[in-house]
Amino acid sequence: MAARPQPYLDGLNSAQRAAVEQMDGPVLMLAGAGTGKTKALTARIVHLMNTGRARPNEILAVTFTNKAAREMKNRVGGMLGQSIEGMPWLGTFHAICVKLLRRHAELVGLKSNFTILDTDDQLRLLKQLIRAEEIDDKRWPARMLSGIIDGWKNRALTPEKVPSADAGLYNNRGTEIYAQYQARLKELNACDFGDLLLHMVTIFQTHEDLLKQYQRWFKFILVDEYQDTNVAQYLWLRLLASGHKNICCVGDDDQSIYGWRGAEVGNILRFETDFPGAHVVRLEQNYRSTPHILAAASGVIAGNEGRLGKTLWTAARKGEQVRLIGHWDGEEEARWISDDIEAHQSGRSALATRRENSRTEQVKDEISRLGELEALRGVNSIGELLGRLKEYESFLVDDSRRDLLWELTTRQEEGLSLEPAFQKFGLSEMAILVRASHQMRAFEDRFLTIGLPYRVIGGPRFYERLEIRDAMAYFRVVTSPDDDLAFERIVNTPKRGLGDKAQQNIQKTARENGVNLVEGARILLANGGIGGKGAAQLRLLIDGIERWGEMARGPRIRTEIDDNSVIDDGAPTARYEYGPPEISHVELAQVILDESGYTGFWQNDKTPEAPGRLENLKELVKALEQFENLQGFLEHVSLIMDNEQDGEGEKVSIMTLHAAKGLEFPAVFLPGWDDGLFPSQRSMDESGIKGLEEERRLAYVGITRAEEICTISFAANRRVFGQWQSAMPSRFIDELPEEHVDVLTPPGLYGGGYGAAMPKSDLHEKAAEANVYNSPGWRRLQSRSNDRGMSQPKETRNVTIDMAAVSSFTMGERVFHQKFGYGAVIGIEGDKLEVEFEKAGIKKVVSRFLTGSDD
Ligand code: ATP
Ligand code: MG
Repeated sequence: MAARPQPYLDGLNSAQRAAVEQMDGPVLMLAGAGTGKTKALTARIVHLMNTGRARPNEILAVTFTNKAAREMKNRVGGMLGQSIEGMPWLGTFHAICVKLLRRHAELVGLKSNFTILDTDDQLRLLKQLIRAEEIDDKRWPARMLSGIIDGWKNRALTPEKVPSADAGLYNNRGTEIYAQYQARLKELNACDFGDLLLHMVTIFQTHEDLLKQYQRWFKFILVDEYQDTNVAQYLWLRLLASGHKNICCVGDDDQSIYGWRGAEVGNILRFETDFPGAHVVRLEQNYRSTPHILAAASGVIAGNEGRLGKTLWTAARKGEQVRLIGHWDGEEEARWISDDIEAHQSGRSALATRRENSRTEQVKDEISRLGELEALRGVNSIGELLGRLKEYESFLVDDSRRDLLWELTTRQEEGLSLEPAFQKFGLSEMAILVRASHQMRAFEDRFLTIGLPYRVIGGPRFYERLEIRDAMAYFRVVTSPDDDLAFERIVNTPKRGLGDKAQQNIQKTARENGVNLVEGARILLANGGIGGKGAAQLRLLIDGIERWGEMARGPRIRTEIDDNSVIDDGAPTARYEYGPPEISHVELAQVILDESGYTGFWQNDKTPEAPGRLENLKELVKALEQFENLQGFLEHVSLIMDNEQDGEGEKVSIMTLHAAKGLEFPAVFLPGWDDGLFPSQRSMDESGIKGLEEERRLAYVGITRAEEICTISFAANRRVFGQWQSAMPSRFIDELPEEHVDVLTPPGLYGGGYGAAMPKSDLHEKAAEANVYNSPGWRRLQSRSNDRGMSQPKETRNVTIDMAAVSSFTMGERVFHQKFGYGAVIGIEGDKLEVEFEKAGIKKVVSRFLTGSDD
């Protein structure tokens, strides 16, 4: 048989090709971001099939996310140039293990139709066990135990295997309740997420014959993102590969970001020991990012110790520097980014995106702005533009424009490029990557307000969340009582003791009387068709709906029977007149949520999601401010949601940094580079550098997602779970190599002034000062912007500065600092303290890095 064509090899460099063609034995591809690891892995799958070494169902390929699995499947099909009959064993660890466990469930005492518990169920079950043991769950919360158990499962430890070193965990009761929990799961014919792998490892370890079968069946094993495998996953892979050893793992130690979930970067470093004679392939050319972006990422990751270290280079054109911008608060950050996205979408620089540090850049921006002048429409080349500019004397109204013309002419004479640097991107080519999911809301709100399509990857979008849909159903019933669907949704949410029977009765009454459900319920109540606790509750709801409706419209002040109208059956119609509403629709929304018991319902809910849901409700009410009334808001949302129904299409992506692993976008926005958010407070509080190093790798992952444009931003003030917090710019910003960074003027800090150039260090300083803006430094800054004739930051808010931190230390107090040890406070200025440390001498430190010493 003639060899089949192998076009998929043509697009690979020689190192990648080697990794593809080395089909037998262990292969490790250890290389930096964007070097084509995933591409090579995909080509390898194709090659295995194309050369007849394996059928699609004999290949076990593990990806990190379901999305990545889908993409890989599509690419394999594309590269192969023919449709494949599917690859049943291409998926995430979990997806593959569910499939296997369904086949062999009885080997661990489950039935094949076992259910998989989510985190909520898991916690509920643990709580029951804890309560039965009469353990004080305030001191020893269920969450703590679930964390411990997950940790054990990640390490493939069944209760019998938990090491004695862990015996003290959870007040010495951890192992015991873990065993009870596993037994209870079996009774329920259920397992949790961690069990999927744990059970499969157990099965393979205890049933050698079965393991042998699978070893023979899976002829080739391929694993992407190997640096993020945990011990259980690692053991499972090693068991399966230990026969033929045809295993190919790819990864990057610098992108290990799941340590908090039990991933062990050591797995990748140990590969050569586990599989002696492994063929190690190193890739050094990055095909994704521009040199500036790559250099910025490398600069940050260089701060980590104990890296393998890799050379990365790119042949891409230089492109733009990484853009850095500071904002007054998180909302302004969202506003700026949405403006910038729109500018990139249209290919025109918005005023707000003017770079200040380079005259040339300014010229380019000015040109793209001129492109919007009606008179200059249709002008294509810069030369043409210049010619026309001279004609338009009205344009040359001020010095700066005359300067511009002069500069353009000079540049033209010197043969320099004048093309605007502003690039055009489709919405789906742009992504916002956040550190914490609560950051998403500001963006979603903004996008909904301006009608910009977006998708949230790895979670529901704001207006699709349960609590938001519930709340909006309340608003709908109030603004249009005929909205029966909305009424159905809320009639027993929160629980009002109205079961199916009662609800059916309401429906029936409404149908019989030809009225809406609200009216139907009213009639039912009047004729005593509903009794008990439910009746009282229903009455409260119906009265509420009427009252809130009145509040929305204003009170009815005149009723007039209209004799002249003969509509339908000739019955007289009434005309009502209403007074002005007594409260704003924003206040009303809050009243509805509170009086209906919906707010209380979540306040009493003890699941871990409840605080987030309450926070979302607050955000919802806040979003109303931008609309005239409830109806306007509801219309807006329904229009947007409707647009979104068509699934695909051009949309901006919003996701967490963790979810962005392996992906790439031409333009990437990295908001929230504030100390305490990124790096996270927890990682900074931790002793040692482990947590901080993982955050740094996350920064590296974030920057390296960008192909052409990478924008990093931070905000001096941010509202987190309802509280205003102020922050310093992220320490990672200091680690960005200056020559690869373009600092943009922070519009908020200077009230929208675009006049002055701001060198980076200065910006950083000032932004940090804004943090303590009631300090002399902030006032200085304010008077400076006044001098420049600039407006103040748009909104003056009651920002709660962390006063606890400011006031909790007193002169002479003995304190402890993670890095400098013990010392005594000798000076206090805002939240900055001067401390004389016993070993390190006198240092200025920020109070939140200090703890009072107990001794
Ligand atoms: P990450 O570490 O972020 O997962 P990666 O090493 O898996 O990155 P890929 O996603 O495979 O990198 O490739 C990055 C980009 O470079 C992709 O757009 C890919 O198509 C392109 N690419 C990879 N190899 C080559 C090549 N030999 N020639 C041209 N483009 C390539
Ligand atoms: Mg990859």
